[in-house]
Amino acid sequence: MSATLVQKMTEFTNTNLETLYSAEQIKTRVAELGKQIAFDYADKDLVVIGVLKGSCVFLADLIRQIDLPLAIDFMAVSSYKDGTKSTGDVEILKDASQPIRGKDVIVVEDIVDTGLTLFRLLEILGSRGASSIKIAALLDKPEPRIKKELKIDYCGFQIPNKFVVGYGLDVAGRYRNLPFIGVVKNPHIA
Ligand code: 5GP
Repeated sequence: MSATLVQKMTEFTNTNLETLYSAEQIKTRVAELGKQIAFDYADKDLVVIGVLKGSCVFLADLIRQIDLPLAIDFMAVSSYKDGTKSTGDVEILKDASQPIRGKDVIVVEDIVDTGLTLFRLLEILGSRGASSIKIAALLDKPEPRIKKELKIDYCGFQIPNKFVVGYGLDVAGRYRNLPFIGVVKNPHIA
């Protein structure tokens, strides 16, 4: 990375972010979730499906904490339009590459806000004959969930209704590589 980009990242982090969960706190929580999943899925044929792009960091860490044979797959869906709220119209940009019939699926999301994206995704996956489908979400914003009730089976942290970034989550396409999760004070200066 050039000096200018390093400076930009440092400046953004120092001036525009308030740490919500440190890398250490996330690591501890992800290890707990992985252990719980390993316990619950001991005799199952587990497929972990990550919802791109936001879940990639969480998924990479989570699967290494699940001490079981498992398969991974990815889907990409459109959710937020122009950085505003979800419409519930989910377009599949990239589908999973393998059938899930008879498998035990965990869908891994970065954050559940209104729940509309995940709700629709579960409807789509629900028609594909999986033995079970559960949700693992790193973050849950329970407050704005006005439309859809979702059961998040494995939740990292419940957070306030604020815009967050880091550990896979972006603002204007950037800062997914921050190792911690921070609240963005002003998304317009990302
Ligand atoms: P939902 O359909 O649940 O309202 O939207 C979920 C998607 O919106 C997430 O997968 C994520 O891409 C985006 N999103 C919701 N809240 C935040 C947030 O606080 N920060 C970031 N970076 N993305 C968010």
